[in-house]
Amino acid sequence: MRLPVRCAPLLLMAKKLFSSERLRHAAIAIGLAVLVGVGTFLRPVDITLWSLQAKLFDRPASSEIVFVEVAAAADPGGGSAENRHLLRSIRYLREAGAERIFLDLPVRRSNSPALDRELQRELVRSADKIVLTRVVRPDLVAGRFSQGNDPFFEQDMRVVSSDYQADFLGYVWDIEASYSDGTVNLPAMWSALAANGRSREGISLDYSIGRNSVPRYKIDELQPGLGGAGILAGKTVVLGPAGTDARIVKIPGYAFGPSSLVHILAAETALRGTGQNLGWLWMIGAFGLSLVLGAIAFRRAMPRRVFYFLWLASLAATFVLTAHLGVRALFGETLVLTLVYGSLRATVNFKRRHLFVESRSKLPNFVALQRDFGEYPREQTSIVVAKIARLDAVFATLSPTDQARYLRQLASRLALGDTRSTIYYDGGKYFAFFVNSGEFQDIQEHLEGLRAVASQSITVSQRVLDVSMTIGVDESSEKSISSRLSAAIAAADQAREAYRPVFIISDFAADSEEWDYSLQARLESALSEDRISIKLQPQVDLRDGRIVGAEALARWVDEERGDVPPSRFILQCERVGRLDELTKRILSKSLYAAEVLQARDHHPRISVNVSAIQFVDSRIAELIEKNLMIHSADPAKLMIEVTETARIENFSVARGVFEQIKRLGVSFSMDDFGVASANLEAMFELPFDEIKVDQIFVRDVHHSETARAIVANVVRLARDAGLTSVAEGIEERETYDLLREMGCDVGQGYYISRPLTLSHLQEMMTLQKDTPLLRNKFG
Ligand code: C2E
Ligand code: MG
Ligand code: MG
Repeated sequence: MRLPVRCAPLLLMAKKLFSSERLRHAAIAIGLAVLVGVGTFLRPVDITLWSLQAKLFDRPASSEIVFVEVAAAADPGGGSAENRHLLRSIRYLREAGAERIFLDLPVRRSNSPALDRELQRELVRSADKIVLTRVVRPDLVAGRFSQGNDPFFEQDMRVVSSDYQADFLGYVWDIEASYSDGTVNLPAMWSALAANGRSREGISLDYSIGRNSVPRYKIDELQPGLGGAGILAGKTVVLGPAGTDARIVKIPGYAFGPSSLVHILAAETALRGTGQNLGWLWMIGAFGLSLVLGAIAFRRAMPRRVFYFLWLASLAATFVLTAHLGVRALFGETLVLTLVYGSLRATVNFKRRHLFVESRSKLPNFVALQRDFGEYPREQTSIVVAKIARLDAVFATLSPTDQARYLRQLASRLALGDTRSTIYYDGGKYFAFFVNSGEFQDIQEHLEGLRAVASQSITVSQRVLDVSMTIGVDESSEKSISSRLSAAIAAADQAREAYRPVFIISDFAADSEEWDYSLQARLESALSEDRISIKLQPQVDLRDGRIVGAEALARWVDEERGDVPPSRFILQCERVGRLDELTKRILSKSLYAAEVLQARDHHPRISVNVSAIQFVDSRIAELIEKNLMIHSADPAKLMIEVTETARIENFSVARGVFEQIKRLGVSFSMDDFGVASANLEAMFELPFDEIKVDQIFVRDVHHSETARAIVANVVRLARDAGLTSVAEGIEERETYDLLREMGCDVGQGYYISRPLTLSHLQEMMTLQKDTPLLRNKFG
């Protein structure tokens, strides 16, 4: 019962380990390599590699073991000639001083019992020197040699096994130390030849020992008189058949040779002290483990690349080293591991390059961010978005290479807070990264510090470029990554460089609704089908109650969702860059309304709301100019109400655009004056004609002294500056009266009228004209 408890941390560790993609790939590669190893599918590859290894080095044999070939003559005499020849050869070898003689051929009875007895006596006499061989496992080596020796000759003799196993291509790579058929168990000839007496499992032949360096003679060339005595003295001699009589095996280097030679080479390997076999498991163990460790240890690209290089180099070195040492290693499985891991990584990297990488900066994009999100613990991860202001203007002056440099420098600055974190770039003006909120006591402070550092100017190609950024953070944990990212983007949008550069959203539930993909789709179709309409809210001269203007307010009634408040769909339009499109439609409808009213001899000024962020270039000026050309409305009757003035980042650009529009005869009003979004600086910097006191002050004017003081002062400020003052949000009679007393010029609010359709406004104006008394309702 306790086991699972103890296992839990291990499981957790394993889970964490495998959440890393690289480790997952290493595990897959190792798994496949093991499967291939178990199935021995790659033996042909190993054989090719071993053959190659055999060619790398060329070592001479010890020449302690001499191979002497006997050619079995065609024997019409029922084997007596053969046995006589053998008897003569043995005597000769003994006389020549051979230390030991291995008869690697079957000794059979002939039709001459006398000769056989003599041969048998000769064998027994030299039993300390002569060793007979025999095939123990004929299933491994078929052919006539499986006949073996006649038992008559084996009496009192030492017999060893001449077995070996060849692979499917006919190569012999390993020979056992002994062979057994269940009843007899004989040591292998090679181990007797090496006389090393060491008990070992078997031997892997070291074919770097050149087969031609084994002294090799034909018995007939050595026979008396030919002077072989000196050659054989003190040597171990293997007397074996040659040519077609021999069992033929393949020896790496594309040669064929008698099987005796293979045992001699195995013995030479043993004499060298090599011939060990590193199983494939060892190889996968060593290379797999080092790969896993490397994947854990090297998280940065450069050191990891160096590691991969060294890893491959060590694989190559192992290849050469094992060949040099005469140690057999199996490379096939490790090659599978390398190939599988390599191709998995290459595929991922390819995808990453094309799918997950922003092309200009080569930084991972927001698709990559969504992919990587799973690697972070949800509760503690905050998504941080840095919005870079005026990036377009900066880019306009930079070459593509310098743009990439600039972006990468920005990214590396943002990474200063945590060098391990990845910085993502959306290709526009947003960067994003994850922050582990648990690591910081005060994340706001941390990010403000980071922002301060990251906002230092950047030098690219000897040009110093300013950086200004706002930061948005989403700290909520419940929502999907895309809505969290959107929330962080919205927060960065709403952050203000001047007074709140870092905007943290913990629960963005209400706002996240604003970023709503289905709403987005409906808004798109509403825009393209021109289903966004306007209502006109009358504005009256507070002195006499005459309607002198009307504010055009965007209205959208969605089939499914009903009335969607402008605050909501306007933000959405802004995020997807459709604000100009909206303005175009509202402007056109407003000018049409002005035309219709003019035709009825009503001449109110129509105020159209335009967001401050639309004054970054002259597109808005062109839009207004084009619309004024289409409609016959008097430009003097058009008032542009600038909302969210504080979002103007560059006053001199905005002033240029203002002036361009003013030249058309259009006036400007500053909306929501007094709240955060509209301030004195904007009033000072830009040529406004009118200021609209925000509703929050107007609403409270008759019960808050402070509100009264603010409104009175704004009204005076406007008068002193030569601007018209407008109070919006008048809901009560008292408010209306107070404002009139204060000298405010124009009033707007539900008390006067709710926003109206064009025909209702027209009716109301007609009624007012025809019935001057009606004015007194307000006047
Ligand atoms: P705003 O320009 O300050 O418009 C005045 C808002 O106050 C309108 O809300 C209006 O319906 C409301 N209002 C008028 N009188 C009263 C009153 O007596 N009491 C109260 N409580 N509210 C009153 P609405 O129509 O919801 O518009 C909200 C904001 O959306 C507008 O504020 C404006 O900033 C923006 N907006 C509306 N239409 C457009 C547009 O076409 N373009 C842009 N860029 N923004 C627009
Ligand atoms: Mg307005
Ligand atoms: Mg307003």
